[in-house]
Amino acid sequence: MAARKRCARQLPCGSMCPKVTEREGDDDRVSAATPHRAGFVTLVGRPNVGKSTLLNHLVGTKLAAVSAKPQTTRNRIVGIVTRPEAQIVLVDTPGIHAGSTPLNSRMVATARQSLGDADVVVLVVDGAGGLAAGDREVATEVGRRARFVAVNKTDRATQGALLATCAEASRLLPDAEIVPVSALTGDNVERLVGLVAVALPEGPSLYPADQVSEQSERFLASEIVREQIIEQTRDEVPYTTAVVIDAFNEEPARNLLVIQASVLVERPTQKGIVIGERGRRIRDIGQAARLQLEAIFGCRVFLELHVKVVREWSKDLRVLRELGL
Ligand code: GDP
Ligand code: MG
Repeated sequence: MAARKRCARQLPCGSMCPKVTEREGDDDRVSAATPHRAGFVTLVGRPNVGKSTLLNHLVGTKLAAVSAKPQTTRNRIVGIVTRPEAQIVLVDTPGIHAGSTPLNSRMVATARQSLGDADVVVLVVDGAGGLAAGDREVATEVGRRARFVAVNKTDRATQGALLATCAEASRLLPDAEIVPVSALTGDNVERLVGLVAVALPEGPSLYPADQVSEQSERFLASEIVREQIIEQTRDEVPYTTAVVIDAFNEEPARNLLVIQASVLVERPTQKGIVIGERGRRIRDIGQAARLQLEAIFGCRVFLELHVKVVREWSKDLRVLRELGL
């Protein structure tokens, strides 16, 4: 129970509205000459460049589903980095990409909307893979609003490839500052934080200092389950999986969290794939997700998954709305 309490303070609190709070405690560490800054920072970039990984590293907890498959991120995800001198409210976006299904266009609309709210835009590109047509499209979309280009995956890039990507990025966005980072190892990420902080408008913190996200715990749980489904089904089940949390009940006396979730797929064949032979795959998915959830929530987790076929859910606007997409 104590562990649960301790962790709960660092967890998303479920509030959807920014709270304006007085800064606490840290003020004496900042000289009067350094104004406090706060604002919204949107990470943009084509799928798979490492936006979610960067967000998770910055916030120090797992908020966004990360996977080697593109388009894992569907929602607008906010992580909050609080430092004595600044509070950075991060917005992770689904990649801005072409697509004609309602799900696709909703994802793009969400990405565009979070761009509109941003004080600072950071374009993330893959330093190991070099720039692709998708990067140019996103750069055109954000234009001069991109103050920084984070050239990610430096851990994997050769010196030559990295220099070439940096040069190309600075030709693409001549006004932006180019910052090589590795979201995976954290290399140079603090420098990026420092530069972004200074670019924010002056003002008090927007959220309490111990809050890391405005996402609800339920959403976090659904993202973790969805990530495991994507990981463990590989290419067999496409992006037609959604996870809806049906019940999320804390039992503090037993240090237990009981989560019931529905896994929505579009076709009976996909249901078979997710469940696996003799239910082995859904058990593996559940177990891997449960271990992660226990680590995050700091208590025992009982996770029950039901796989349901909902035909064409990704084309059904009502279902999309229920999923908050
Ligand atoms: P997003 O689609 O832009 O949000 O990309 P993700 O954060 O989901 O990352 C896509 C893939 O790139 C995942 O397999 C990550 O582990 C990997 N990745 C992200 N950042 C780095 C990095 O700095 N170095 C390396 N080697 N891999 C990374
Ligand atoms: Mg992502």
